[in-house]
Amino acid sequence: MKPNTSTKIFRALMGAGTKPRWLEYESVPKETADAVVIGAGVVGIAVARELAVKHGGREVLVIESAPTFGTGSSSRNSEVIHAGIYYPTNSLKSLFCVRGRHLLYKYCKEHNIPHKQIGKLIVATGSSEIPKLNSLMSRGIENGVEGLRMMEGEEAMKIEPELQCIRALLSPASGILDSHSFMLSLLGEAENHGTIFSYGTTVIGGHIDEDDHIQLHIADTMAVKNWDGRSHLKPDLILVPKLVVNCAGLGAIALSRRIYGHGHGLDSNSNSNSRALPPPRPYFARGCYFTLSNVKSPPFRYLIYPIPEEGGLGVHVTLDLNGQVKFGPDVEWIDNVDTSSFLMNSSFDYSVPRDRANKFYPEIRKYYPGLKDGSLEPGYAGIRPKLSGPKQSPSDFMIQGEESHGIGGLINLYGIESPGLTSSMAIAEHVATRISK
Ligand SMILES: Cc1cc2nc3c(=O)[nH]c(=O)nc-3n(C[C@H](O)[C@H](O)[C@H](O)COP(=O)(O)OP(=O)(O)OC[C@H]3O[C@@H](n4cnc5c(N)ncnc54)[C@H](O)[C@@H]3O)c2cc1C
Repeated sequence: MKPNTSTKIFRALMGAGTKPRWLEYESVPKETADAVVIGAGVVGIAVARELAVKHGGREVLVIESAPTFGTGSSSRNSEVIHAGIYYPTNSLKSLFCVRGRHLLYKYCKEHNIPHKQIGKLIVATGSSEIPKLNSLMSRGIENGVEGLRMMEGEEAMKIEPELQCIRALLSPASGILDSHSFMLSLLGEAENHGTIFSYGTTVIGGHIDEDDHIQLHIADTMAVKNWDGRSHLKPDLILVPKLVVNCAGLGAIALSRRIYGHGHGLDSNSNSNSRALPPPRPYFARGCYFTLSNVKSPPFRYLIYPIPEEGGLGVHVTLDLNGQVKFGPDVEWIDNVDTSSFLMNSSFDYSVPRDRANKFYPEIRKYYPGLKDGSLEPGYAGIRPKLSGPKQSPSDFMIQGEESHGIGGLINLYGIESPGLTSSMAIAEHVATRISK
């Protein structure tokens, strides 16, 4: 029998002189599993639900390193239901955002998830921004976003008296939701269909065995936290699943790099492996939020967005369902991220420095001149898992299956930044359809 790619990689590693660590794991208990989802953020939960409820009722195990679900990017975002305007036509972002929005509104209505379709105004505050606003409108229409309408500044400022702009693009399809209730509801459905969520459990790596199966190395998160960083971290359990969906968010790329046989030993000069792609290079960008204090009622009824900036959508106005107003997120590229960390989520700094408000005031006052000094209070921060860096063109979501990396039964989700919350149910649908094919 002709050895396939991963067997060759395994053999290459075996023959490389260094004895792979997992050969020392004979004493570690081994379990088989049907489908394993890594990460209980909104995407992992949506994928688990889709597999358990709809696609043949798979037996799903979700492994999450944190003590509960949704503590990563899924609880550090704007909670905006995006319409699908910004993304290149036919990109995964545009397709999943539009489809995901429809699925999300329907789901929220059917399951009483708090949400509001409040609409959004994208505003041009100078004449140089008008061509960009026009192209956003054309792109939105091409992407299938309903109801987009361009309005003169006067009309926009009549609807929103605190706003200053010379033209605005109205997107009635945009809205907000309570993302925690959404995740809780999906999770409940998944559990009712037999899905098991294992919290405080970390996938520290894995390997491809001689039979070409993926084996995951699992450890208790406490042991990972207490690890001295020098000795070898041995797993507590080895899982041999039929299917693995890597929804590890900020840690997804780092994790797949620790699956031996995944991109390891792949040589660009080697013909045999030329189609197998190694995991991409990760980039990270922090975004901070400030909340508006000292106001009796919110100054806006709509979400207000400036023209997008490099790496993000611009410091915008978001309202939550309790009427609290927040501004953000800005974009701060983070260098020197230690991707060797097993717990990427907790290795980031999520604090919001008070003096960063000095950068927010002038940005916000371009469209909200009435913003009073001293009214911004530090809120929270989130980190975007990106696949392109500063000055590079924005990247799309990346979903890699066997056809990309050569490993059967493994699907990696990379770069699931905004609009990942809006897209979550469409991503889940896509993953499940791919598996059933
Ligand atoms: C600042 C900001 C604003 C945003 N605003 C919006 C918005 O308004 N609308 C929108 O649609 N989208 C928005 N997004 C995007 C959205 O929040 C994300 O796309 C979405 O939450 C990603 O979900 P996830 O499940 O992929 O990742 P996460 O929520 O990060 O979940 C990944 C999970 O995997 C776990 N994990 C990681 N490694 C391991 C391991 N080795 N073993 C076990 N578990 C592991 C982590 O603990 C974590 O719980 C925003 C994102 C950011 C950062």
